[in-house]
Amino acid sequence: MTETKYDKYLFSGLEPGGKPSAPGHGIDLLSLDNEVIAGSNFYRISWLDPKNFQDHPMTVHLPPHIHKYTELLIHLGTNPDDPFDLGAEVTMIMGKEMEKHTFTRTTTVYVPANFLHGWWEVKNVTRPWLFIQVNQGLMHSAKYYPQIFPRAIRDRLPPLEDEWE
Ligand SMILES: [Zn+2]
Repeated sequence: MTETKYDKYLFSGLEPGGKPSAPGHGIDLLSLDNEVIAGSNFYRISWLDPKNFQDHPMTVHLPPHIHKYTELLIHLGTNPDDPFDLGAEVTMIMGKEMEKHTFTRTTTVYVPANFLHGWWEVKNVTRPWLFIQVNQGLMHSAKYYPQIFPRAIRDRLPPLEDEWE
């Protein structure tokens, strides 16, 4: 394909800076931040498909954490007969009180800067849906608090490093 002046602004397929997700997670369609385009905030779009969850049901994989900037977590259903039917069951923990929210409808979660949230868990995926993460900062930032979890859960978590400069 011939390169044009502005083709750098169109994305199709996983772009540099994006990492393929592990089985049981979504398939990343886009991962964009200040390293990909100078001045861009952090955006990630993932496709969550029942096929990816058959052998790898998602379990709790992220301990409670905070971000430096406001985050939007957009869960979009794709049922043409009911756009609010998410086709999955998502649980999100909010605040230091660890308030539990479970939803099966198209839902956007607004996470203020420095607000403790997570874990985030996906279950019962019955149809593909889209997950869009927006971080209102140039790069993804996170500080994790695994110590909040009981030891049995903490031991099952993958190693996580804070992204905090
Ligand atoms: Zn988060």
